Amino acid sequence: MSAAPAVTINPRVSEFVKSPKLLLIGGKWMPAKSGRTFETINPATEEVLANVAEADAADVDEAVKAARRAFEEGKWSAMRPADRARFLFKIAELIEANAAELAQLETLDNGKAINESKNIDIPMAAETFRYYAGWVTKIYGETNPSSPDMFSYTLREPVGVCGQIIPWNFPLLMASWKLAPALACGNVSILKPAEQTPLTALRLGELMLEAGLPEGVVNILPGFGPGAGSAIAAHPGIDKVAFTGSTEVGREIMKAASGNLKRVSLELGGKSPNIIFPDADMKSAAFGALMGVFLNQGQVCCAGTRVFVQQEKYDQFTDQLSQLAQNMKIGDPLDTSTRVGPLVSKEQFDRVTSYLDIGRKEGAKVKTGGEAGGQGKGYFVKPTVFADVNNSMRIAREEIFGPVAATIAFKDENDAVFQGNDTTYGLAAAVWTRDISRAHAVARKLKAGTVWVNCYGMLDPISPFGGYKQSGFGRELGKYAIELYTEIKSVFVKL
Ligand code: NAP
Ligand code: MG
Repeated sequence: MSAAPAVTINPRVSEFVKSPKLLLIGGKWMPAKSGRTFETINPATEEVLANVAEADAADVDEAVKAARRAFEEGKWSAMRPADRARFLFKIAELIEANAAELAQLETLDNGKAINESKNIDIPMAAETFRYYAGWVTKIYGETNPSSPDMFSYTLREPVGVCGQIIPWNFPLLMASWKLAPALACGNVSILKPAEQTPLTALRLGELMLEAGLPEGVVNILPGFGPGAGSAIAAHPGIDKVAFTGSTEVGREIMKAASGNLKRVSLELGGKSPNIIFPDADMKSAAFGALMGVFLNQGQVCCAGTRVFVQQEKYDQFTDQLSQLAQNMKIGDPLDTSTRVGPLVSKEQFDRVTSYLDIGRKEGAKVKTGGEAGGQGKGYFVKPTVFADVNNSMRIAREEIFGPVAATIAFKDENDAVFQGNDTTYGLAAAVWTRDISRAHAVARKLKAGTVWVNCYGMLDPISPFGGYKQSGFGRELGKYAIELYTEIKSVFVKL
């Protein structure tokens, strides 16, 4: 593994990285009012990629004014839906036209393997815009069977100015999950990317201007949580806040949003159970468990970090999973043969490696990994499989957000469901079995927003995504995101 990228960077990517990184407010790029900037780092080399304008409360205020103006003028919300749809289709096309560049940019800023940026993040971002472009012309009200002397109907209207705060694990994709449905419904947005990964959101801002989006409809404000983020959550001029990130910050957002009773939707953490019954196709289950926990270095909210295996197959399965994990190639994330890149930041590296010690101290056994994976610079951690874990250990209860699998034995179906549900989270779950009745029965019993059967991590813009319990509330994607971004109005007309 070499610290310096061996792969050539697309000249357009280098040019973009070198260009000034400003805030997008009211259709114009501008420095932060405070004049402050922060560094974004390449986590594979620990080198500074760019200095980025750091928004704080004053800039959020400015963005709210611009967004409010755009909303009230109706340049977007009152546009003929078929015309509004064209913009979303155009944004999808521009993402695709710039896909190679966006994939490299994402990998430079976040550290994820280029194959993932290229095959997952960027195409799914384009697909999300295209999916919601289709919705723009299909958001209906209803006529209601009221009294004979009344004509009663409902209108579905945009909520207004939306504050959207996103994490660093899927930067462009999370931006698209937030922006595409909000825009489809006629809302305007103030988007705050995570401080660790602001670059693709800024590039998306450029593409949106290229698509001709009216000024003020999308405002992009990189900055820190306690600065720009908390100002968005608390601002009385913002009508709705949508947040993806940690459960702790989700709680803060709810408190801050209570001032003006903003609509709130939260997509938070998880500790998802991946349950493997002995009748499953063990080869696919092992591969599914591997991808379920190690994709994006485990920095995935719905990662299957608790791998439950029925007692009689436990040793065999944990051996198989450990072998696969050990064979994953760690290295320069820009190299197409790399499977495991660095974690996003020093902070995540410290957090994840501290859990490796916690797991050992709790008595779990390291089957593979268990240590840092770099030979020089970069925040690399080896894919780690812990065996002999029980569900009450901290490594089975707390979201580690790194490449760490906790494998846990179970006795029978009831025990699997009981242990699977014995968590404060409820974002996702999976079950592997060839028994069709058991598959559906267990899917019903698991308290999670998404359940996968004989696969892991499938996402599609047509299917809702979100959490039970402390994994949040509200459902993104599918028709459910239309609910998140609209108000319903009843109209009565005396006949
Ligand atoms: P985080 O603090 O929840 O960050 C998510 C977003 O919220 C970022 O844009 C962050 O800004 C912003 N933010 C932070 N504090 C805020 C506040 N008081 N008000 C408003 N916005 C605020 O997550 P993190 O610190 O990056 O990661 C910590 C842990 O969160 C991870 O280890 C993982 O367990 C979990 N996490 C979960 C997800 C998920 O998809 N569910 C994603 C990321 C992390 P800045 O980052 O710019 O400061
Ligand atoms: Mg970065």
